[in-house]
Amino acid sequence: MTADCLFCKIVAGDIPATVVHDGARTFAFRDINPQARTHVLVVPKEHHEGAAALAAADPQLLADVITAGAEVAKAEGIADSGYRLVFNTGDDAGRTVFHAHLHVLGGEQLGHFGK
Ligand code: 5GP
Ligand code: ZN
Repeated sequence: MTADCLFCKIVAGDIPATVVHDGARTFAFRDINPQARTHVLVVPKEHHEGAAALAAADPQLLADVITAGAEVAKAEGIADSGYRLVFNTGDDAGRTVFHAHLHVLGGEQLGHFGK
């Protein structure tokens, strides 16, 4: 756990969240400010700064995060209707939390990219 990391604290149970998946190395919870009817965040339990850093440090763990995202989509009942997996990077994408996290968005027709 990295001190002062919000998502490390959520993984540790120090900050409450609505948990939807608790795997060996991955964890998922509902976004506090959902941008779609279904909006879940999947994170590695280990702290990694972002998707590219995670890919460089532990590609299997990045694969586990993506697989967990697909499993969450199935469990949420949105796998067949379709969903979006997103890693935001940098200011223009509005990135705010620097613990790698995969957004799983769906449950309704999503806008096709952009604003
Ligand atoms: P980013 O913009 O960094 O890709 O995404 C961070 C996400 O974390 C945002 O969608 C935001 O709503 C969510 N978030 C921020 N703080 C909390 C929190 O305390 N609990 C939960 N469940 N989600 C949070
Ligand atoms: Zn962290």
